[in-house]
Amino acid sequence: MTTTLIKSKLKTFVGGIHPKEDGKNLTCSKKEVPSISPKTVYLFMNQHIGAPAKPNVKKGDTVKKGQLIGEAQGFVSANIHASVSGKVIDVIPWHHPVTGIKSPAVMIENSGDDTWIEGANESSDTGQISPDEIKQRIQSAGIVGLGGATFPTHVKLTPPKDKVIDTVVMNGAECEPYLTCDYRLMIDKPSEIINGLKLIMKCIGCKKAHIGVEANKTDVYNLFKDILSNEPNIKIDLMEVKYPQGAEHQLIKASLNREFKPTQLPLEVGAVVINVGTAFAIYEAVKFRRPLIQRIVTVTGDGVENPQNFLVPIGTPIKQLLEEAQITTNINKIIFGGPMMGIAQGNIDMAVTVKGTGGILVLRNAQQWRSHACIRCGRCIDSCPYGLNPSELSILCEAKEFNLALENNVMECKECGCCSYICPSKRPIVHLIKFAKAEIARQKTKV
Ligand code: SF4
Ligand code: SF4
Repeated sequence: MTTTLIKSKLKTFVGGIHPKEDGKNLTCSKKEVPSISPKTVYLFMNQHIGAPAKPNVKKGDTVKKGQLIGEAQGFVSANIHASVSGKVIDVIPWHHPVTGIKSPAVMIENSGDDTWIEGANESSDTGQISPDEIKQRIQSAGIVGLGGATFPTHVKLTPPKDKVIDTVVMNGAECEPYLTCDYRLMIDKPSEIINGLKLIMKCIGCKKAHIGVEANKTDVYNLFKDILSNEPNIKIDLMEVKYPQGAEHQLIKASLNREFKPTQLPLEVGAVVINVGTAFAIYEAVKFRRPLIQRIVTVTGDGVENPQNFLVPIGTPIKQLLEEAQITTNINKIIFGGPMMGIAQGNIDMAVTVKGTGGILVLRNAQQWRSHACIRCGRCIDSCPYGLNPSELSILCEAKEFNLALENNVMECKECGCCSYICPSKRPIVHLIKFAKAEIARQKTKV
């Protein structure tokens, strides 16, 4: 990773934070991406926003790599495919690392022979492919947003008829501290990512694109610039290193200088945002008919001897990944994702990767903060990228004043964590807001 010093020329947004330690140096210079071959995988039917898929296999079935094992239920849903070849051991409720509750998962014992299902993993000529065919292959491959949102990509690429998308914005910012999975992919597969971006543009009939890259990745910036030297319609924007630079609102503001409400989608301002990992998965699906069955995962932190990016079949047990990364003793926190938006895990024995898992952060000395009263310093207000008043919200949420919290736009909070990070009183602002949002949703469903 390399850094530029010309800060005034960098694009950015208002608010946000500059984490003191970004932890990316632990893994960014490691060129190898070892492949993991798990003994068993656990494939959840709900790895995406929308309706869970429905298993179409049963205990005792033999499956091949890339075989459809969970059928999407409706349009806002996503297919699930076998990430290894082998035997279905069971279809059982398993502990979900994101929702924290047990959900149906297909458990497959890996035969280790890597036999692909017929029709998948074959190169095809995509020169004359139609937009509808691109979308159909994306949908069939079960592709979801790999930046963490896991929204089904074919839905994102189907805007309402009255909305015109004029620009695709590709997110190569990777602003979450510690994670370097996108960086590794951009360094290793830049042409494939650009080809994926062009397929997206063709799919939605969009002539322009911007790629946002943070200024701590000037090597990626130069790589993309070389590849795109004859592509005037695809621009690369070098952005300030600031969190959450890669979030949709902040990326679009920095790239296109367009703004929209926290509750609105990018299509309101004529844009669609795609993560670089998703663009790569799209290229794989359209060109080779490879479903989304693996991804790069960063396993890092001071709790592993060998922090590293790994190529991981979806559904791999975390214990195996941690062994590969040489987990140390005296661990006091394991987080799925990065330190800002990741989810702390309670049950490591059952935890497995899902499509949205970009990183696992293992910490020995995660600090346990004591929270104090708000001193009205206003730093959380300055940091909130969505213009909210986190101090006020946290007080209302703590007092269970949910109606007042709603009046103060609590539902507009994107849970980015900037306010909690910056707060000198270490108030658990995001936790209080999450609690209130969950309570409001629960009360709504009761009515
Ligand atoms: S967590 Fe919510 S309130 Fe806090 S800074 Fe982010 S968007 Fe604003
Ligand atoms: S940063 Fe913390 S102490 Fe300062 S106003 Fe916000 S909640 Fe209060």
